[in-house]
Amino acid sequence: MTKTVLITGANRGIGLELVKRYLQEDEWHVIGTCRHPENAVELKQLVDSSSNRLTILPLEVTDSASVLQLKNSLSDKMIDVLINNAGIFNDRGSSIGSFEFDKWAESFDVNVLGPMRVTEALRDNLDHANTAKIVTISSQLGALSRRAVSNYAYCSSKAALNKAMSTLANELEDTNMIVAMFHPGWVQTDMGGSDAEITPAQSADGIFSTTEKLTKADSGKFLKWNGEIHPW
Ligand code: NDP
Repeated sequence: MTKTVLITGANRGIGLELVKRYLQEDEWHVIGTCRHPENAVELKQLVDSSSNRLTILPLEVTDSASVLQLKNSLSDKMIDVLINNAGIFNDRGSSIGSFEFDKWAESFDVNVLGPMRVTEALRDNLDHANTAKIVTISSQLGALSRRAVSNYAYCSSKAALNKAMSTLANELEDTNMIVAMFHPGWVQTDMGGSDAEITPAQSADGIFSTTEKLTKADSGKFLKWNGEIHPW
């Protein structure tokens, strides 16, 4: 039976590697969303080699009209896994005296409201007889237990994202939907930089394998890319 995964921010970084990882498995149909499909060169190249198992759709997660357009394109298509991956880190090194509140608000719009907008819009696509998984790529920098001295917007947005998604896990407790948050590792992407600890392929492989094993008992958990529990 074919299953469908929808991945946001699929044109580069961890999102692109997640697309590649899912395409390695014949049973998966992949919907990769990105802001500018016309510029998504590498993603578009994958369409040719995917035997019609990859569809690219436009999505800007801060724009309600774009989210609605995605929902309309999907109609009542069943989604088995939603991966809220798109995110920004726009206040590197910020500290008191240099707060840029516009950037802070933008971080919340993309990193917190974005995943919630997309998840809300696709709730009927995820609510079906089979188990559906709502996977959100958070960050260790959102963990309250981890000491932080800068990057206020990014850290606080990921902390808020964790709270929003764990609240959703509670609200959806009696449904077939599983809600899980991931720290993807420190990953060699545009965001993580070239000194990061793991490759996008390693991160994507870990997230894929761990997501495959998720059961209802895992709903509400904050996990590392390799399946270990991440402290809050
Ligand atoms: P990249 O910066 O490489 O890629 C970010 C992706 O998000 C791009 O596809 C980008 O699209 C997309 N995106 C950004 N803003 C929006 C928006 N408003 N609407 C739709 N798409 C958007 O980041 P990574 O691949 O490294 O990060 C992926 C996720 O992992 C993020 O949520 C990040 O916070 C998280 N993470 C990453 C870590 C790392 O070490 N790399 C560590 C911890 C967490 P576009 O190309 O159009 O900008």
